Amino acid sequence: MLYREQIRYKSRKEIEKLRTAGRLAANALRTAARAAKPGVSLLELDKIAETFIRKHGAVPNFKGYHGFPGTLCTSVNDKVVHGIPTNYILQEGDVIAIDCGCRIDGFNGDTCLTVGVGQISEQAKMLIQTTQLAMFVGIEQCRPGLRLGDMATAVQTFAEERGYSIVREYIGHGIGRDLHEDPQVVYADQRPGTGFRMEPGMTITIEPILNTGSQKCIVEADGWTVRTQDGGLSAQFEHAVAITKDGPDILSIPDPEFELEDGL
Ligand code: MG
Ligand code: MG
Repeated sequence: MLYREQIRYKSRKEIEKLRTAGRLAANALRTAARAAKPGVSLLELDKIAETFIRKHGAVPNFKGYHGFPGTLCTSVNDKVVHGIPTNYILQEGDVIAIDCGCRIDGFNGDTCLTVGVGQISEQAKMLIQTTQLAMFVGIEQCRPGLRLGDMATAVQTFAEERGYSIVREYIGHGIGRDLHEDPQVVYADQRPGTGFRMEPGMTITIEPILNTGSQKCIVEADGWTVRTQDGGLSAQFEHAVAITKDGPDILSIPDPEFELEDGL
């Protein structure tokens, strides 16, 4: 039988619950990102995020997901996604993608950003900046009547025109009572005017991953951590977004006091 994706459209009330979860995940994420300094371990960052999430009455929703051990995914330098928090000590010049999720009142938050540790190279700064912009290019396309293929084409074109590749295997998703709902949200190899038509009440994540070199990835022996095949740098940003009649409504904006300098 043909598999058909089942999209769960959200009421206004459900969208507000997603915003509560998204905001808390965003605040926890930045609390951990602020602590990402030379000499700090990935496990310490993970503990900071978990403590923050639990203190606010939520639970880390990555922890235990198909056996994932962390509250955060911590993907350093050539690590692409799903990096397990280990006792690795951050070094000056590292680039770390931190992905954070939590569940509260039955709804899920899921958001990611990439930051430099201490002083980083110009190449790393450009990658981070372009990846964040690529996410916003995608979010801008989250409007009723446009299709997921329009969004993917906009993101891919933006990234490739600037010399970066888009990772194919790790993609976005619907978000709601489940962390991963339909539809699958890809950011490459689509045609404009194809794919799901976006309608008010759809809630999805926009989370492109950009590499400085090839898009090709390898899964490490731990079964989770993914790295670039060629050793190039990788970065990711993620927001959860509701499609409304007026356009995209970002559900994972932090409270102002948690915002990082440089507007992340
Ligand atoms: Mg995520
Ligand atoms: Mg996600």
